Amino acid sequence: MVVQLPEHIDPLRLAVRDFATRELRPRVDEMEEAGAIDRSLIDKIGQLGYFGAPFEERWGGSAMGEIGFTIVQEEIARAHASTAVLVAASSGLAARMIAVAGSDEQKKRFLTPMAQGKGVGAFCLTEAGAGSDVPAMATAALADGDNFVINGQKNFISNGQLAEYFVTFAKTDPAQRGRGISLFVIDAGTPGLEIVRLEDKMGIRASDTAEIVYDNVRIDRDRLIGDENTGLQHALSTLNQSRIGIAAISLGMAKEAVKLAWEYAHQRELFGGTLGDQQVAQHTLADMQISLYTAESITYRTALMSDAGENIESEASICKTFVTEAAEETIDRSLQMHGGIGYIRGSAIERIYRDHRVQRIYEGANEVQRNNIYRVMRRLYG
Ligand SMILES: Cc1cc2nc3c(=O)[nH]c(=O)nc-3n(C[C@H](O)[C@H](O)[C@H](O)COP(=O)(O)OP(=O)(O)OC[C@H]3O[C@@H](n4cnc5c(N)ncnc54)[C@H](O)[C@@H]3O)c2cc1C
Repeated sequence: MVVQLPEHIDPLRLAVRDFATRELRPRVDEMEEAGAIDRSLIDKIGQLGYFGAPFEERWGGSAMGEIGFTIVQEEIARAHASTAVLVAASSGLAARMIAVAGSDEQKKRFLTPMAQGKGVGAFCLTEAGAGSDVPAMATAALADGDNFVINGQKNFISNGQLAEYFVTFAKTDPAQRGRGISLFVIDAGTPGLEIVRLEDKMGIRASDTAEIVYDNVRIDRDRLIGDENTGLQHALSTLNQSRIGIAAISLGMAKEAVKLAWEYAHQRELFGGTLGDQQVAQHTLADMQISLYTAESITYRTALMSDAGENIESEASICKTFVTEAAEETIDRSLQMHGGIGYIRGSAIERIYRDHRVQRIYEGANEVQRNNIYRVMRRLYG
């Protein structure tokens, strides 16, 4: 397969980069300090159609395909990982669940505002006792007439404080594991829904990560997304696509790290020349470029496969695993090339290094991705 990008991609990349340069980068330090993303910035991202990139126009989307959404996330992440995570969690996870499993009425009600950035979404799956082992979740939704009553707690939820819509997984058949999980959408402010901010993350400090407590949260039956007990099945297909987004974020961060390494190497004077005059530094930069080329190819290819409707069950896991690990190595090399200054709080590479570490952990830790890849291999070789 020749990786040929659609025509809209180059102008889109330039437009996102222009937005990031003029409106996002100047606010990064202030948002890192505040530990929050500026609401006016979220509005702007919505107006530009970037939250809506993967969704159809009839639901408020901008129909740029998975490949367009990949470019959006990559270019935003080049400037600020936390902002990219906000977009990924709201559109790539929460809104996408509605797009995949919701009725037309639910899409109009919940997907459209999320696609337009008028309402932020949170994707509430992980619990203290159920991270990689999703079917072990304990949060339960009990049917009561025309209502469901939800009790439980979710951990590590991105956009928890900002969100208007909490796309929540809960067991409707607690006797079952994966086959007893359903999906609901809950509005912020619903009685019994409590948000507790998690403090002090290593990185992505401007991305808010919260614990969500459900204390007898009563919702109408029309908040059930898809059929009862099919929540996990929808989550698995959604996560396949959103993993391309995680790769895109890593790719953007790695590209920025290479640019920073190049600039630093060619301005740092030592031994009568610059660091960039040393062949070791040149080879390190060349290795970083090899890594970027490979990571970019695999990310765009997987996005295009998704747009073509191909099965990406294994490819999405390969893409997430390879690109997050290649990017981590590249970012580490860039920091090393910066020497001591790269270790000092406030240097751009120091933040990228901290921000990137979580990429191997969330949306299915890389060990879990390797389980997926092996499972498909058994079908192929087995
Ligand atoms: C900053 C941040 C934001 C997040 N945002 C969200 C969000 O918006 N929504 C959401 O639902 N969740 C979110 N998460 C949760 C994230 O998806 C989980 O942390 C992740 O799935 C891992 O689960 P865990 O932390 O419980 O680790 P565990 O599942 O306890 O795993 C611990 C370790 O064991 C490994 N492991 C687990 N199972 C196996 C196995 N079978 N074989 C080999 N190794 C294994 C894991 O890879 C990991 O290294 C977020 C997490 C963080 C840190």
